[in-house]
Amino acid sequence: MTEPSTPDEAARRAELAQNLAAVRARIERACAGAGRDPNEVTLVVVTKTHPARDVRLLADLGVRNVAENRDQEAARKAAECHDAPLTWHFVGQLQTNKVRSVTEYADVVHSLDRTRLVAALSGAAQRRGRDLDCLLQIALDKESGEGGGRGGATPADVRELGAAVVAAPGLRLAGVMTVAPLSGPYAGDPRAAFERLMEISRSLRTVDPGANMVSAGMSSDLEEAVAAGATHVRVGSAVLGVRPALR
Ligand SMILES: *Cc1c(COP(=O)(O)O)cnc(C)c1O
Repeated sequence: MTEPSTPDEAARRAELAQNLAAVRARIERACAGAGRDPNEVTLVVVTKTHPARDVRLLADLGVRNVAENRDQEAARKAAECHDAPLTWHFVGQLQTNKVRSVTEYADVVHSLDRTRLVAALSGAAQRRGRDLDCLLQIALDKESGEGGGRGGATPADVRELGAAVVAAPGLRLAGVMTVAPLSGPYAGDPRAAFERLMEISRSLRTVDPGANMVSAGMSSDLEEAVAAGATHVRVGSAVLGVRPALR
């Protein structure tokens, strides 16, 4: 444990501790309502836009999984926190020219959404000498092959993409991820969106039975995700407070 060095630091630590307790209580209540064991649900704290100092405080408060969505920011913070016992998740849109950097610090990538990324990730992961856990990001507003400006594979492409990951050295097919869509048939109905994601997860597990991670749910809809069967919730603002408006 690191002792808080200033009154500001102590106040921030207390705030994060309180927010974390509230989020953990929400997860436990949602699990109780769904007849699930809370140990089945991993809290991934999304620390984007917040300083490395917060990441250290979170690690000190028992958080073991953190996520970032921008490579530059993530690389810097992961380096500053290299001695903290953390698993780093990358949840942002992935570009081929960022893959090499992302694989330097990320243990889990949630946003693999096209075949073209597979070879790049595989090569980079092999150079790093460790298996990289990959989740396929699904765009549920793209059921019909259109829409979805925010990245994500169409549900129809998931099995083929999954098979490409299974065949790629250095990569492990870990499961699926989604963000509740703002448009299309599931807009405004996160529970239905997450149930659809579970269906896609079951289909993917016919390709690889070990691909059982389901990453779904954020600050506003983690209850719906837990009820549907999510194994990982990605929570930012409910733990860290409101972000500066850049996204
Ligand atoms: C920012 C972000 C989150 C967390 O969102 P909050 O609403 O702050 O909880 C989750 N997933 C992804 C992909 C994100 O970019």
